[in-house]
Amino acid sequence: MSTLTDLSHAHRLDSQDELAAYRNSFVIPDPDLIYLDGNSLGRLVACSAERIGRVVEYEWADDLIRGWNAGWFESPFRAGAKIAQLVGAAPDQVLVTDSTSANLFKLVMAALLARPGRTRIVSDALNFPSDLYVLQGCIRLLGDRHHLHLAPSAGEIEPDLTALFDALDDQVALVTLSHVTFKSSYLYDAHEVTCRAQRVGALVLWDLSHSAGALPIALDQWGVDLAVGCTYKYLNGGPGSPAFLYVRQELQDQLDSPIWGWWGHTAPFEFDLHYRPAGGIGRFLAGSPPILSLLTMEAALDLMLEVGLERIRRKSVQLSEYMIALADERLAPLGFSLGSPRSTARRGSHVSLRHPAGFRISRALIEEMSVLPDFRQPDNLRFGLAPLYNSFADVWYAVDRLAAVVEEGRHLNYPATPAAVT
Ligand SMILES: *Cc1c(COP(=O)(O)O)cnc(C)c1O
Repeated sequence: MSTLTDLSHAHRLDSQDELAAYRNSFVIPDPDLIYLDGNSLGRLVACSAERIGRVVEYEWADDLIRGWNAGWFESPFRAGAKIAQLVGAAPDQVLVTDSTSANLFKLVMAALLARPGRTRIVSDALNFPSDLYVLQGCIRLLGDRHHLHLAPSAGEIEPDLTALFDALDDQVALVTLSHVTFKSSYLYDAHEVTCRAQRVGALVLWDLSHSAGALPIALDQWGVDLAVGCTYKYLNGGPGSPAFLYVRQELQDQLDSPIWGWWGHTAPFEFDLHYRPAGGIGRFLAGSPPILSLLTMEAALDLMLEVGLERIRRKSVQLSEYMIALADERLAPLGFSLGSPRSTARRGSHVSLRHPAGFRISRALIEEMSVLPDFRQPDNLRFGLAPLYNSFADVWYAVDRLAAVVEEGRHLNYPATPAAVT
């Protein structure tokens, strides 16, 4: 009989894992590397590698300008339709374009201009800094008429929901939050928050960067107004791959993009001297899409559509429960504490472990132990669990090597503070 902490237990879980074979769909040059950073940059899907080769060699080199009429022009919509299926949206509501930050800017400006009498934006202190910077910038652009209210967090892991709901009144123009928070992995009940915000007449915008591709999302069913998200994390789109945005059908013609570019014009090739927005979601395009990375990313989505998010979430939960159970047994005695919610229903697909020497431990793991997590200030080691390529053995080895680093004092050889780029 093996116990939870034996490696044989991990092997047994792997042998029962119905998604195990999907690891073969990825390009994995170093099989000994334990890669637990899929929530920052997902692994390369083999069909993406093949696709980018074809795009460069044939479509770019051969087709040249004709490529625009052979599938490039509509690619923001086509890739958007695939992502729509992954976020629970009916067709014609999702576009792939720009970065998450730029899409957030466009939709926040559109939302604030659509609620002219209201002066408050509600978010939380767990949100991703770029999102908060964008909000601050929008407020400044609109003449400092709005106030950004950040609901506090309880212990930096969960938001104070009472404070969040108390902040909702008829002065709130927009509620915008990360569906899964980047540090602690707290997972909002997006349906409940959306309903409460809409009850006071506010618009609701979710950032799905840490949830898209990791768990089932039902934007239409939840009645969400607006959403953005990135594609290079769990969607495995590749470094800097373009992001997506969602605008609920009924809102599309009521909202204006703050960037009036030719791709958002109703007839871009008429080269009219006056801007007339396209009907529908297309008005949220600005300029030419990054075709190479867009098509590469699009190819990666097919794998996820084939597997389905219910099965991905099931394994994600198993992996994270397993990691937390091992951490309780083996890492808590060494000074680690859980930096994520214990409740499965309120946790995304990464697990944060906190340790006062977290930064030095992360350096030792990366430099000496062939484990790649990432580190977030002040003391969070984040482990992104990507069900399509991470195994239970990956989790076991990561915990085993974390324990070894601290037991052997390996982290003491590294400086206590980060270099400029982490
Ligand atoms: C990853 C992430 C982003 C990324 O923004 P980019 O503009 O695409 O670099 C934005 N918001 C959140 C919540 C994220 O997790």
